[in-house]
Amino acid sequence: MTSARPIALLPDVLISQIAAGEVVDRPASVVKELLENALDAGATEITIRIDGGGIQRICIQDNGRGIPRDELTLAVTRHATSKIQSLDELEQVMSLGFRGEALASIASVSQFTLTSFPDGQGCAYSIHNLSGGWHIEPSANSPGTTVDVQSLYFSTPARRKFLKTEQTEFFNCLDVVKRMALANPAVSWLVYRDGKLHSRHQAMPWSTRVFSILDALADGQSKPIDVQAGDMRLHGAVGLPDSARGKGDMQFFYVNGRFVRDKLINHAVRSAYEDVLHGDKYPAFVLFLSLPASEVDVNVHPAKTEVRFRNARAVHQWVRQAIESVLAPSRATVPLSERI
Ligand code: ADP
Ligand code: MG
Repeated sequence: MTSARPIALLPDVLISQIAAGEVVDRPASVVKELLENALDAGATEITIRIDGGGIQRICIQDNGRGIPRDELTLAVTRHATSKIQSLDELEQVMSLGFRGEALASIASVSQFTLTSFPDGQGCAYSIHNLSGGWHIEPSANSPGTTVDVQSLYFSTPARRKFLKTEQTEFFNCLDVVKRMALANPAVSWLVYRDGKLHSRHQAMPWSTRVFSILDALADGQSKPIDVQAGDMRLHGAVGLPDSARGKGDMQFFYVNGRFVRDKLINHAVRSAYEDVLHGDKYPAFVLFLSLPASEVDVNVHPAKTEVRFRNARAVHQWVRQAIESVLAPSRATVPLSERI
C-alpha cells in the first residue's frame, strides 16, 4: 500500500506517456500511426526510413495535404483532431484516425519533429519538442508532411527494456508497411533501412500488389472473391487449401480499409476452411469487408485494431458462407443475399 496523498491531476506529458503505453507500445505501432495519418491526408507517395529497428529513428514523409502553420501546435496536442467533431461523426467514422492522440503520445516518448508544407502556404514550417516546450520555425520540405521520430522511449527506459532486437523490431515495422500496402495499391511506398533502400512498392492494380507481397496467393494458388449482399461486400483473394502453411502470417483481414485482428472474423474464416483444410495449417488470405460505418464500432481499443460488429452473428455467418461459396462452390445452394 502507498501512503495516502491528496488527489492531484497528472501533468500533461505524463498523461501522454501513460497513453503511449497503449497507443505506441513499440516502433511498429509508431509506424502504423504515422502511416494512418499519411493515408488520411490523401498521400499517394510515402517514404519510410527506419534506423536501428525504429528505436533510433523513424522518419515518414508523405505528399498529402499537409498541416497549416497555425494548426501545428494542435496537431501535437492530445485529443485534438481534424477527423471528428461529434459523437455522430464518431459513429460514422471512415478515416483511419479519430482519437487525436497518436502524435501527442509519440512526441511524449521521443525527440519529435514534424515538418509540413500545405497547399497555399509560402513555405514549410516545422514543430519540434525541446526541453518540455514546442518550437515552431520555417523549414524546408516538399509539399506534404514529414514526421521524424528519434530516440524512441529515451524518456521511458522501462518501456525500452521491453523491446526486442533491432532486427525483430524492424521486421515488425515492415509487416505494418506490408499490411498498409496491401490495402492501398494506388499508393507508392519506399522503405529505407539504415540509410539503404530496402523495398519499394510502386502504385499498381490491386491483384498485382497482392501477388507481389504474398506469393502464397499467386495465380493458381488462390481464388478471387467478390460477394455482395445489401450494403455489405467482401472482396479479395483466398488461398486454396494446398497453399496453406504452418504459420498464420499470411492472413490479412480489413474492415472498411482498416487492418483488424478479430476473433469473430478469424473464427468465421477458419470455419469456412473446416471441410477443405486438414491438419494444423493456416490458409493465406487477403479479405476486405466493407459495410456501413454505423454497423461497426472501431473505438474499442486505443490501437484501433479491434472492432465490434453491431450484428456479430450475421457478419460471422455471412463471411463464412461467402468464403465457403468460393472454396467449394457446389455447397452454396442458397444465394448469399438471402442468407442474412
Ligand atoms: P488523429 O489521426 O486521430 O486525428 P493524430 O494525433 O494522429 O490524431 O493527428 C492529429 C492531427 O494532425 C490529425 O487529425 C491531422 O489533422 C493532423 N495530421 C497528422 N499527421 C498528418 C499528416 N501526415 N498529414 C496531414 N495532417 C496530419
Ligand atoms: Mg492519427
